[in-house]
Amino acid sequence: MDRTRVTVTCADCSFESEHERLRDARVALDDHESETGHDARWEIESLAAGVTRAGADAGVCGRPECTNADSPLVDPPGADASEGDGGR
Ligand SMILES: [Zn+2]
Repeated sequence: MDRTRVTVTCADCSFESEHERLRDARVALDDHESETGHDARWEIESLAAGVTRAGADAGVCGRPECTNADSPLVDPPGADASEGDGGR
């Protein structure tokens, strides 16, 4: 439902890897940077909404809870939808 894909890319080479968790992506990014000294970055893609968020936003505190605090994905209008759908 709220799957997220994080793509790590490098500005200095063709390095690219995908992760389902921000933490994994962060490790890969950090790993590549420390190994090569390149300038890598990540892109967070929410598959459910099809929204791509800037990595800089997500990196503010590093916690998913904080990252998605203002995302509509966290608080879907479930009650609202069922109320309107089942109502007659
Ligand atoms: Zn690189």
